[in-house]
Amino acid sequence: MIALLLDETIEKYEQDLRELLMAFFPGEAFCYEKKPEAGLFVCGEKDGLGVSGGAVFPEGAAAGETLQAPLCLTESRSENKTRIKKALYGLLHGLTGEELPWGTLTGIRPVKLPEKMMKEGMADPEILKELQDRYLISEEKARLSLEIAHRERAVLSRIPYRQGMSLYIGIPFCPTTCMYCSFTSYPISRWQDRVGEYLDCLRRELDQLRRLQETPGSRIFGRPFQTIYIGGGTPTSLSAAQLKELLGVLKERLDLSELAEFTVEAGRPDSITREKLKVLRDHGIQRISINPQTMNQKTLDLIGRRHSVEDVKRAFSEARSAGFQNINMDLIMGLPEESLSDVEHTLSEIRKLHPDSLTVHALAVKRAARLNTEGNAWAHLARAGREEASRMTELGALTAEELGLKPYYLYRQKNMAGNQENVGYAEEGKENLYNILMMEELHTVLGCGAGASTKLVLPNGDAAANNGNEFRVERFENIKNVAEYLPRIEELLEKREKFLDPRA
Ligand code: SF4
Repeated sequence: MIALLLDETIEKYEQDLRELLMAFFPGEAFCYEKKPEAGLFVCGEKDGLGVSGGAVFPEGAAAGETLQAPLCLTESRSENKTRIKKALYGLLHGLTGEELPWGTLTGIRPVKLPEKMMKEGMADPEILKELQDRYLISEEKARLSLEIAHRERAVLSRIPYRQGMSLYIGIPFCPTTCMYCSFTSYPISRWQDRVGEYLDCLRRELDQLRRLQETPGSRIFGRPFQTIYIGGGTPTSLSAAQLKELLGVLKERLDLSELAEFTVEAGRPDSITREKLKVLRDHGIQRISINPQTMNQKTLDLIGRRHSVEDVKRAFSEARSAGFQNINMDLIMGLPEESLSDVEHTLSEIRKLHPDSLTVHALAVKRAARLNTEGNAWAHLARAGREEASRMTELGALTAEELGLKPYYLYRQKNMAGNQENVGYAEEGKENLYNILMMEELHTVLGCGAGASTKLVLPNGDAAANNGNEFRVERFENIKNVAEYLPRIEELLEKREKFLDPRA
């Protein structure tokens, strides 16, 4: 347990301090008084921070040792946040000897920083220096984030994305629930009888979007759809007939004349059949994902995927035979019981398949996932070890390089193995626009289905008064639980109507 003893000046930055502490000590609980069971005390006052290691925690810290760092706060909240985090990082590093690859950065979009610096006209060497000096990011990660910022810029120059928007459709069903899953997902076998009802709700959502897209004065008026992403869950859990119905509805209801990209997350190989692949091809889907996560059968069994390594190979070869020239594969590094040699095996199998893009994730422990509720996820994260997780991530990057794939998008989550990141690699020209647009919040994404969210990206007016941000994001969340989403669709539509057209 970590005790946070902060005065009113530092209290405002509590969330930032907690996030950094969680990156050093995943899974630790917090308290706000001097409890005897607290193993670490973090004291914060306007003039300085102090950290004392307790008798039993953290491992490696000298019992009772106190480290202090002076603070010099300014009028600017964001500057103070940077200074406070940097001071705390120094103390925690002093106490534990550990370094985090992303330094003081705890947010999910590290590429935003180099992107902003590029916009301000800074040259690459200056950006790299700033990322390392100010945010204590390792040289390797600083270079990676800068490379991705440049590539994102080049990829996005292909479409006038500021004028358009994207559509996300969530299909919250899967063959079974994976142990690490935190998405909205229900076993399809239990919901088969209500899929028709679900598709009807989607139809009603799409009708609303189309109407508002054509209503002068609405917040999405006149914006064409530029990318569509059908995800979930596993959309290919639907039968071929249901998929055909869904894709037919989309084409019939929406104007897709400016669509630059259409992706379906096929995901679980056990949900993919030749018939479904044909339906996808017939409806113009260009990019699909077939996600092994690992090519080790013992791990697949352990994490509840309930499919075989052979299923992955079969689905991949059937997708190629069906004509798909843009297939992504997702992998997770740091899965339970996996060692470096397991990861090496997975990567050698992936090299043989040669996907067009590869997304290398570091395992993230989510509170609601079975990995946490049924297993000892935090102990697992600690076991995974920063060094080993970092080596796994490096091997993933090397494989991508061997396959001729370049990193083009990156995001981070809380509680990731080794404090690493998720990186999307792709062959040039096969990058997923939607991933970049959504991750970097560059344009409006409308979400349909249980658990989907709509993010409106709107001009900010006075950017100077808004921390230099030219755009702001407003969110609308659909009902997450599918059992509530179905009967409450009317209420959801009414609320979203007001969100998308405040005059309604
Ligand atoms: S396939 Fe994906 S969405 Fe489905 S249960 Fe597994 S992790 Fe969750």
